[in-house]
Amino acid sequence: MGVKEVTVHMTVGNGETSYANNSAHQKIGISKAKYVLDECLKQMVADNGFSKCFKMVDLGCSSGPNTLSVVAEIINTIGRLRKLNNVDHELPEMEVFLNDLEGNDFNNLFKLLPSFYKKLNEVTGNEGIRCFVSGLPGSFYGRLFPSNTLNFVYSSFSLQWLSKIPEGLENNKENIHMAMASPPEIFEAYARQYRQDFTTFLTSRGEEMVPGGRMVLTFVGRSVEDPSTKDDCAHFTLLASSLLEMVNEGLVKESDLHSFNMPIYTPSKQDVEGVIHKQGSFNLDKFEPFLVPWDAHVKHEDTLDQISQLCANGSAPDHSRGKRVSDFIRAYTEPVLTSHFGSSIIDNLYGKYAKKLAEYLSTEQPSFYNIIICLSKK
Ligand code: SAH
Repeated sequence: MGVKEVTVHMTVGNGETSYANNSAHQKIGISKAKYVLDECLKQMVADNGFSKCFKMVDLGCSSGPNTLSVVAEIINTIGRLRKLNNVDHELPEMEVFLNDLEGNDFNNLFKLLPSFYKKLNEVTGNEGIRCFVSGLPGSFYGRLFPSNTLNFVYSSFSLQWLSKIPEGLENNKENIHMAMASPPEIFEAYARQYRQDFTTFLTSRGEEMVPGGRMVLTFVGRSVEDPSTKDDCAHFTLLASSLLEMVNEGLVKESDLHSFNMPIYTPSKQDVEGVIHKQGSFNLDKFEPFLVPWDAHVKHEDTLDQISQLCANGSAPDHSRGKRVSDFIRAYTEPVLTSHFGSSIIDNLYGKYAKKLAEYLSTEQPSFYNIIICLSKK
């Protein structure tokens, strides 16, 4: 059976279900990663000094505001380091590339640029760093830049996406990812695709980056080596059970569920270290896991609402909390699901999903296990 092409991009525009409006969760992760980013830039400057033109890329930037706040953070850190090192008399230049797949809503991103440049000028003034931003469509699983030109690579919450759905998942039936209940060959099929993709990623960056250049990569990972021992992706297990419910109601064809799998792999520490070591272009300078609760992005007011609701009716599931988590997961899963199941089931599916999430959250306190790594080009 041929592997169906998948559509990987986030929900476009800036509407209610768009990625732009549902990426607060990643923002929390990004702010957790901030000190690693600062440390890594500091070390890079200590080892290599400053280049006249600093060339960097955000790989898998998506269409929301997160990418530009990271770029601003990097520019401010470089500016601070220049001051500390007394090299701020020369006018430095930065070339920033925002990369994502061709289907990404670059237009929404470009519309945010005028206010980004305005803020940058306010902070750095006329003597500040000159920054030139461009969009760069294409897959990071392959070459994107000329050889030996890139100083710095950043990526957050993109590398868990594989280049395609692995082959050999026919027996994954009612599961849609590497679930605890998946047969062992499913784990191996996913791991094989990951090793191939991450190797291609490192080889491409290895050719593009200057020696001493740095990469800071944050992605969703797995806390255990053996995926059958812990369900780190219970959010996908619940999504699969929502789809199964729709199969039982005759709304989704069973064969469609059986042939669907997410092109996502959450690597363990051993997976990550193994590929970096074998590929050989980079040193692994830092490996740091951190947890972000599923509903960490729920606003403070919601938490208060939730408390009063719990007081009023015992421990009934809080549906607004389930809906918020569902909205956030919808922003990155909807295009993939729509391309396989069609758009007519989507609202119903995420409605069921929100209820399941709410029930789950009323008894569990789940978190995403994220990994941040810092690599230096040999
Ligand atoms: N970095 C942003 C967006 C994360 S969403 C943030 O932290 O908020 C993940 C993004 O990775 C999506 O926009 C998706 O289109 C992109 N992506 C997935 N696979 C990719 C690939 N092979 N090449 C480039 N971008 C990819």
